Amino acid sequence: MTGKPENDRCPLCGGRLKPGLATVPFLLPNATVLIKNVPAIICSSCHEPYTTGKVTDRIIDLLNSLRGLQAEVLVLPYPELKSAPTLMPVMEAHAWPVT
Ligand SMILES: [Zn+2]
Repeated sequence: MTGKPENDRCPLCGGRLKPGLATVPFLLPNATVLIKNVPAIICSSCHEPYTTGKVTDRIIDLLNSLRGLQAEVLVLPYPELKSAPTLMPVMEAHAWPVT
């Protein structure tokens, strides 16, 4: 048995949680953003992904950088965490057309 007790069971269905990569949708006021390859713990029963604190913080930063964006659906890769945590390789967003 590995993992912390609070991460061990799915709050929705009680299934076992396993680490993996997930595509996680986020609903923003002006867009739906799909972030791919997010490190998450995923329920083996209902496949609901859960992100942990550091990953969630990173996603919030990413979503904040998209605030002014006018787009209905965006698909973004999750930024790699291998580099320094303070480095913010999310600036691809600036390449998106913003009106
Ligand atoms: Zn579940």
